[in-house]
Amino acid sequence: MDGMTSVSIPPRRPVRKLVTGIIWGDEGKGKIVDDYVCLAQSFEDGRDTVVARFQGGENAGHTLYVFINGKWERFVTHAAPSGIIRNTDIAIGPGVAFNPLSLIEEIKKADRLIGGYNGRILISNRVGICFDYHKMIDSARESAGKGVGSTRSGIAPFYEDVARKTTRVTFQEYLSDKFPDKLRQVLEDKKVELEAIGINHSGMLEMLVEKHKSARQGLRGHGVDLEYRMAEYMKRGAHIIIEGAQGSGLDVDMGDIPNTTSSHLLAPNAFPSLGLKRKDFDIIGVEKIYVTRVGDGDFPTYTTDSFAEIGDLNGEFGASTGRKRRVGYPDWVMARRNAWLNDCDGIVLTRADCVQDREMKVCVAYEVDGKVRTEVPVSLTGVKPVYSGTSYKWKLWEGHRNLADPLNEPPELTAIRADYVKNGFDGLPGAMKEFKRHHDEFVDCKTVGISIGAKSGETIYV
Ligand code: GDP
Repeated sequence: MDGMTSVSIPPRRPVRKLVTGIIWGDEGKGKIVDDYVCLAQSFEDGRDTVVARFQGGENAGHTLYVFINGKWERFVTHAAPSGIIRNTDIAIGPGVAFNPLSLIEEIKKADRLIGGYNGRILISNRVGICFDYHKMIDSARESAGKGVGSTRSGIAPFYEDVARKTTRVTFQEYLSDKFPDKLRQVLEDKKVELEAIGINHSGMLEMLVEKHKSARQGLRGHGVDLEYRMAEYMKRGAHIIIEGAQGSGLDVDMGDIPNTTSSHLLAPNAFPSLGLKRKDFDIIGVEKIYVTRVGDGDFPTYTTDSFAEIGDLNGEFGASTGRKRRVGYPDWVMARRNAWLNDCDGIVLTRADCVQDREMKVCVAYEVDGKVRTEVPVSLTGVKPVYSGTSYKWKLWEGHRNLADPLNEPPELTAIRADYVKNGFDGLPGAMKEFKRHHDEFVDCKTVGISIGAKSGETIYV
């Protein structure tokens, strides 16, 4: 030893997060993904960031409020990972219901907004294409009262074709010259089904080939064996953010059967399909502090009392369909189960601003057939909430109750929120901290962030 102390600077850890919704969706995943993208981009090598989707399709809708060219802008994505608005690379995994036309539209939209999108676009050769006929079948079923209140984006009929195997058109086939032949075979195989629900398929082949002509040309070169390419991102130390869609209560196997979506959306499903390893990622569950649900299906804490006013006051309408979301009190029974099933390392609580001044009780058990239980049953019909004896109420600021339109809120409100972010967790109201403490004990997972506004950056990380 020469007496000198060598100071070793710990290597900068790449941002590796999977962001998943742990209740019924619409928790604010897009905003939290954006927070992690901004974190990644704050590093010198921030340009090397990829945001990947692994399931779902256009039934997902993330709304982002981002500050671009001197003003706040609203950006909604359905097909593209949220990263496009930050010019990151984007990846579409094989489990997605992929609509190339929507992806192109959203890239154009991002392109106009940010003045030139030039990230790398990686689309799994294995991913299936969601076509117009999927939407038509979905819509016909909904109109006939035989659906579960879907977004009519064709998601269930698409995943039926995935399970049927021979009627899935992969992205590799889509790009190849054999595409018209493949589509002809698929339409032939689906003829009886289409006719049975009154869908006229004559001319559909020609229409679809024509409609997708320029997309097939435009996306040529973007079809990849994604698991290998993602492994390369991993190996060179790039930032990787995986973006979930919907919420765990809607998982096709572990959700509220039959009122679920059609894909496997629990976080651990993402890794094998993207060629990544769970141990390399933090799984972050996004939990809206209160509960909302769209589409069919019951939920135990649903309420129509004055607490439900927060729905209208805070713009609780779906990003994909504009449908009104039903509102309920926090459901920690569901949160605990879903944090566990997703293997969450941390939770970000969202919309803490939306419940201020409201007396809020929390559900800590269910009453099912007269018996109190703390496990989530297969069916939620008839399940009654059992609330803890404690309720919570906090205030972040005076006035400003209507937060439905973040783009038009007064600048002083944006400034108040910025102050809260600057002051960190310690600056939050005592009741909110107590809520967090009780929540984390009950849900058995630590809260790592509390979101207090719709706009980018309005999150306090603990
Ligand atoms: P996602 O699909 O989970 O990304 O959720 P959506 O985009 O459908 O809905 C979430 C909406 O809530 C978006 O408009 C967000 O900007 C907004 N949001 C997220 N977190 C907060 C919050 O803490 N406060 C408020 N007021 N809005 C939030």
